[in-house]
Amino acid sequence: MRLSAKVAIALSVVVAGAATVTAVVVSERQASEQRAQFRETNLRALELLGLALAPAVAEGRHHRAQAVVDNVANYPDRYPDVRDLEVLDLRGRVVADMDPRRFGEESDAGGPPAAEATVEEGPDGELHVVVPLRLAHAVGTLRATLSEARLRGEIFVRKRDAVLFVLGTMSALGVALYALHRRVLGAPVAALARVAARIRAGEMSARAPARRGDELAELGDAFNDMASHLERYTHELEGAVRKRTAELEAANLRLKELATTDGLTKLSNRRSFEEQAIRDLSEATRSGRPVALVLCDVDRFKSYNDRYGHAFGDEVLRHVAGILRAEARSMDLVARVGGEEFAILMPDTGLDEASVAAERLREAVAKDPLGKGGERVTASFGVAATSPGRAALDALLRAADDALYASKRGGRNRVSLAPPAAPDAASDDPEATG
Ligand code: GH3
Ligand code: MG
Ligand code: MG
Repeated sequence: MRLSAKVAIALSVVVAGAATVTAVVVSERQASEQRAQFRETNLRALELLGLALAPAVAEGRHHRAQAVVDNVANYPDRYPDVRDLEVLDLRGRVVADMDPRRFGEESDAGGPPAAEATVEEGPDGELHVVVPLRLAHAVGTLRATLSEARLRGEIFVRKRDAVLFVLGTMSALGVALYALHRRVLGAPVAALARVAARIRAGEMSARAPARRGDELAELGDAFNDMASHLERYTHELEGAVRKRTAELEAANLRLKELATTDGLTKLSNRRSFEEQAIRDLSEATRSGRPVALVLCDVDRFKSYNDRYGHAFGDEVLRHVAGILRAEARSMDLVARVGGEEFAILMPDTGLDEASVAAERLREAVAKDPLGKGGERVTASFGVAATSPGRAALDALLRAADDALYASKRGGRNRVSLAPPAAPDAASDDPEATG
């Protein structure tokens, strides 16, 4: 249920309660006034009647007294509350009555005539009025029974009107309070809730509309402060996350590099070479294109270490690696696969083409002496290419290695080719030739 409806109902109930209590008190007072007026009016009318009856009773002209009584019975408009009327003489005999058959009866209410008019309430909600009839002295008594039915009807109508008035006022008040509350409190609070929902949905720049002068304005200001703080904080957090992510990505890249790169020569390491070579070979198998592998081993490398130390040996390795990388095509994968052993995988390249490339690499290494000392460095090469019987990496490596061994045996600083494998000789490659 909306806040405005709750407030309107609560206030209406409180006000209606107060209004009901007031209405009850007021209508009770009105009722007792009505009752007093009722008695007063009837008493006056009966006293007047008494004045008319007294001479007739005193003179014993009973038919005259009966005529007065009949007059009352015949004109109920004038005496609407009179139910019964009897006139008694001094001995308590009925000398006139609305019921003419009672003439001459001894009244149940005998005794001497009352000194003055009295009104008594009967057990059945009727009023018994006794009015003494007198001229110079008492001559008789007028006894009347009054019904309060008309009075009760009037009181009921007044009370009913009061209740209807309270109900009507309460309804109108409820509607007015609802509208007022909605306007003053409900609508601004709902607006604030909508802004909060927008912020929650990610619209961080949403703000409560500006207000002035009341607690809702303070609430809106505090809310906007909080939203600004949140926006700033989110912004900073996003920045920090972006920076951290970039750092992590860089670190990951670096880790990957470390895992795939040879630290000394910055070429791919053996593991990375094998992974890439396996991918290239399976691709080549699918496409039917040849792949060539060139293995390169530095000649008498141990002697550099022995003569000039390990650091110089490292220098030789970096030197040869640089030449191989510079001379190979960009699509070729150049890797350091052992101590002073390198591999160059040449996609989309047949044996002849690869042997030309290997010759070029050999010349480049041999013609470029190392450092100021002009130390001459040479390397031997073995070349193999895929063929239907040699599609797997280990078979290709073995064939290239055999060819490399042939170059070593043949005197070093040379290129040897592995003969193409027979289609059914997947693992038994013939000896390489130089
Ligand atoms: P060959 O011409 O028959 O290939 O003779 P070689 O001396 O080059 O071959 P051998 O296999 O006898 O020697 C290789 C040497 O390379 C042995 C090892 O100490 C050295 N070596 C292996 N890795 C490194 C390295 O990272 N740095 C240096 N400085 N030396 C290395
Ligand atoms: Mg070696
Ligand atoms: Mg060697």
